[in-house]
Amino acid sequence: MAAAAPETFGFAADTTALLDLVCNTLYQTKEIFLREAISNASDALDKVRYASLTDPSVLDSEKELYIRITPHKEAGMLALRDTGIGMTKADLVNNLGTIAKSGTKAFMEALSSGADISMIGQFGVGFYSAYLVADTMQVITKHNDDEQYIWESSAGGTFTIRPDTENPSLGRGTEIRLFLKEDQKEYLEEKRIKDVIKKHSEFISYPIQLAVTKEVEEEVEEEEGDDGEQKTKIEEVDDEDAKKKEKKKVKKQQTTNEELNKTKPIWTRDHQTITPEEYGAFYKSMSNDWEDHLAVKHFSVEGQLEFKALLYVPKRAPFDLFETKKKRNNIKLYVRRVFIMDDCEDLIPEYLNFVKGIVDSEDLPLNISRETLQQNKILKVIRKNIVKKTLEMFSEIAEDKDNFNKFWEAFGKNIKLGIHEDAANRSKLAEFLRFHSTKSGDELTSLKEYITRMPEIQKNIYYLTGESLAAVKDSPFIEVLKKKGFEVLLMVDPIDEYAVTQLKEFDGKKMVCVSKEGLELEETDEEKAAREEEAKGVSDLCTAIKEILGDSVEKVTPSNRVVGSPCVIVTGAFGWSSNMERIMKSQALRDSSMSGYMASKKTLEINPKNAIIKELKSKVAQDKNDSTVRDLVWLLYDVALLSSGFSLGDPASFATRLHSLIALGLSIEEAPEEESAPAVEEKAGDANAASELEALD
Ligand code: ADP
Ligand code: MG
Repeated sequence: MAAAAPETFGFAADTTALLDLVCNTLYQTKEIFLREAISNASDALDKVRYASLTDPSVLDSEKELYIRITPHKEAGMLALRDTGIGMTKADLVNNLGTIAKSGTKAFMEALSSGADISMIGQFGVGFYSAYLVADTMQVITKHNDDEQYIWESSAGGTFTIRPDTENPSLGRGTEIRLFLKEDQKEYLEEKRIKDVIKKHSEFISYPIQLAVTKEVEEEVEEEEGDDGEQKTKIEEVDDEDAKKKEKKKVKKQQTTNEELNKTKPIWTRDHQTITPEEYGAFYKSMSNDWEDHLAVKHFSVEGQLEFKALLYVPKRAPFDLFETKKKRNNIKLYVRRVFIMDDCEDLIPEYLNFVKGIVDSEDLPLNISRETLQQNKILKVIRKNIVKKTLEMFSEIAEDKDNFNKFWEAFGKNIKLGIHEDAANRSKLAEFLRFHSTKSGDELTSLKEYITRMPEIQKNIYYLTGESLAAVKDSPFIEVLKKKGFEVLLMVDPIDEYAVTQLKEFDGKKMVCVSKEGLELEETDEEKAAREEEAKGVSDLCTAIKEILGDSVEKVTPSNRVVGSPCVIVTGAFGWSSNMERIMKSQALRDSSMSGYMASKKTLEINPKNAIIKELKSKVAQDKNDSTVRDLVWLLYDVALLSSGFSLGDPASFATRLHSLIALGLSIEEAPEEESAPAVEEKAGDANAASELEALD
C-alpha cells in the first residue's frame, strides 16, 4: 500500500505562541513532561476501561491495560505507549492543535505574572510540555473506530497527520515518540526515568513499565540459541570450550518490562501508616497540581454501606473555578478499586467543586452507567457523607488562622454559594463566613466572634451591603449603630447579598440589614420615649415632603438610625436593597419581570435632630408652598439616594439644582442654565437661599 501523503494543519494561534514559549524556555526542571504524558495515558486508559464496563468487546483489540516507557538510545528517542482509548483522526485534529483552549491563554498570562512551567497540567495543555525536552514529537495512535495514524510536529506553527503504513499495529492505544533535544538525553537513562516516575507518578493506578535492557550471559546447547526470550544480537564466546562441551556461552541483550509503581492504592491503606509526603504525592499525581494540598481527609464508612474516601482542599482556586459552561467535578469514583468515572456530578454539590479526591465504593455495581447512577440510592448516601466530611475538613482548616485565611481567599465565594444553595448545611456553613466589620479593622471577623463582642442589650446581628468597603464604612445607615456601640458587618461581595438573604439568622440571632425599613434598634425606655417625642414633632414635615416627592418615595418617616445626616433612603424589608438594585441593574440578562415587584420600594427617613431638618420644619410651618423648600427637598432626596447607595434617576435635574445652589452661594444673580431647566420651577430669592446655605453648614 502506497504511503498516503501527510495532511498539514495549522495550530490555533494561541497554541503556536505557547509552543514557542515551551520550546525556548530556559526553565530548569523539564522532567514534568513525563508526568503530563503519563497522566494523559492514564486518562486514556480510564476511558477505555469505563467503556468496557458496558461493552466488554472494546477490549478485544488489546486486553491488557498498561503504560510502557521504552528508551531508544541509538535513535535518541523516548517512546511512551499506552493501551488506552487511542485517538481517531478527528480527535488528533481537534485535541492536539487546531482548537484553541481557554487554558492556553490563561497559562501564558499566569506565566508572565510569575507562574512556572510545571503548572501547565492545571491549565489543560499539559500535552505540549513534551516540547520542553523534544524538538520533534510523533503521536502514533489507534482508536477502535478508526485506522492507525501518525501525528507529527516540530512545533513552529503546523503539524501533519498521515495514515500509519510504517509501524507495527498497536492494536489499540497510543505511542508518543519524543525525539529528544541534544541536551535532554538524560531522559533515556533508566535511573533518571525511575526517579521521575517515583517522584511524580507513583500513584497512577495502571502499571507503568520501563523496558530495561540488560546484557546477560547464558549457556545454550549448540546452535539452537533462541529460547524465545529476546531478539537482539547474539555473540559467540569461548569458542574452544563450546566446541568441546557442545555448549555455548552467549552474551545477549535481554529486555524486560520492569513495573515501577507497585504501591497499592493509597486510600486502601490505614491512614496511620501514610506519611504527609505520601498524601501530598498522591494529591499531586491525581490533581495535576504542582503544590501540596491545604488539607486532607481520609476516612472510611462501614456498616450497611461501605466506602472509602480521600478528599483534598487545594491551596488555590483553579483559574476557571467559576467558568459556568464547564461542569467541573474533581471526585473520582471507583468501585472495588476499579476506576469508574471522574466527572460524576452526583458525588458532591456544585459549590464544593473545588474539593478533589476519590471515592471507592464496595456496594455499587461495576457496570453502573451514568444514567442509572443518578437515581442510585447508595450514591445519595455517599454524597451526604462526603459533604459532611468535607465540612469537617473545613473546620479543621479553621483551627489555624493563617491557613483559614488562605482558604477563605480562595474559596470564600463557594461557601457563600453553599449558604445560598444547601439549606441542610446552611448553619454549619455559616460558621465559615468571614466579613469586614465596623470593629474588625483590617482583619475579617466570623459571626461567632461578632457575637462575643455584642453589648448585652443588642439582640440582632447587623449588616450593610454595598459596592465597596470605602462606600459602606462611613455610610449614614450605620451612624446610630456606631454610636450605640453595635458592630455592623460590611458586605461588599455581590454574592453576600444572595447568601445573607437565605441565611436569615445565625445562632438564634436575626441577621438585620441596616438599610431596610422597619429597623428596630434595641433601646432603653428613655431612648424610646425621646425618639417618639421627636417623631411626633416632624409628622407635618413628613407629610409635606411626601407631597413634594410624590411617587418617587413610598413614604416619608422619622428615622431612628441616622445621627449626623439629615436623611437616608431605606428599602422595603422584603424587596431589594440599594446594593441589590445596583447588582441587578448591572446584570444585562436579568429577568426583567423581577424588577417590577422586587425593585426597591423607597422610604425617605428624616433625622429630626438634624439642623437642616429643623430649619425645613419651621419653614414648612410658616408656608407649606415655599418654593425654596421644594427645591431643597428634592436636593436632599437626591443626595440621600447617592449616600444610600442608589444611582440617580435624573442626574440632569440634580445637576441643575446643584448649580443654582452654587450660583447662589457665589451670589451670582442669574444662573445661565436656569431657563432651560424644567426641574427648577421657581428661582429662590437671594436672601432665602443664603440662609439655606447657612443651614447646610
Ligand atoms: P488534558 O489532559 O488536561 O485534557 P492535555 O494537553 O494534557 O490536556 O491533553 C490534550 C488532549 O489530548 C487530551 O484531553 C486527550 O484528548 C488527548 N490525548 C493526549 N494524550 C493522549 C493519549 N495518550 N491517549 C489518548 N488521548 C490523548
Ligand atoms: Mg493532560
